[in-house]
Amino acid sequence: AEARLQELQSELVHVSRLTALGEMASALAHEINQPLSAIANYLKGSRLLLMREEVQHERVAEAVERAAAEALRAGDIIRRLRDFVARGETERTIESLPKLVEEASALALVGAKEHGIRVQYEFSPAIDLVLVDKVQIQQVVLNLVRNAVDAMAESEFSKRNLTIVIEQADDEDMAQVSVTDTGPGIDPEVADRLFQPFISTKRRGMGVGLSISRTIVEAHGGRIWVRPAPGSGAEFGFTVQRVASEELYDGE
Ligand code: ADP
Repeated sequence: AEARLQELQSELVHVSRLTALGEMASALAHEINQPLSAIANYLKGSRLLLMREEVQHERVAEAVERAAAEALRAGDIIRRLRDFVARGETERTIESLPKLVEEASALALVGAKEHGIRVQYEFSPAIDLVLVDKVQIQQVVLNLVRNAVDAMAESEFSKRNLTIVIEQADDEDMAQVSVTDTGPGIDPEVADRLFQPFISTKRRGMGVGLSISRTIVEAHGGRIWVRPAPGSGAEFGFTVQRVASEELYDGE
């Protein structure tokens, strides 16, 4: 019973770190709203001042300067989020990539069956251990799988297949995880800004998932990308550092 209790406790810590990231993001999104509304107001005010017959340049200049200061403040808030995610309390340990991906996908796929989504796992047996902060990399997988589910749940296509692949990356030291869906694909309006913060096409989307994911993956020395999936849909992928089994026994 004691062992089980410990297991449950560590699970709880794990889940609360996952949600802490989400809560942090939502708190910051809220906070960032303030400078943004201020910027909108200063700019609206400037426009009114400029439309007057006699333009008071001093006052316009002042309003524009204040808007600029608010924009910098908004940038600071985003930087804080990035720092939290990238440097925060990262704990890199040796983990089994298939196990980590499986756990995170299971969490992300709660409710997916109701949308008629079929999930297929293709894990290369050649890939196992990686050196990562488990919670952070699981956050990335969670974001990618949730996005894929969202995309397919909303699409009118009846074919709803989600494929999660683990394989060797081109770089021999890296493993690669990819999540492919048969949804509508990436909206061209946002395609080149997907990984920037607060870019979202969803009614209730906060647009921070992919930005956080990129920060995490790059802090781990990997890269993250998206490309159109064959047919319709999107394929998101990222790489992580492998741990070769020889390395494990080095120096022992
Ligand atoms: P959010 O999910 O809150 O919108 P993200 O940063 O996770 O934030 O995603 C940003 C945007 O990227 C989404 O709003 C959506 O337009 C696009 N996107 C992400 N994943 C997919 C996908 N699998 N298929 C189509 N579009 C996607």
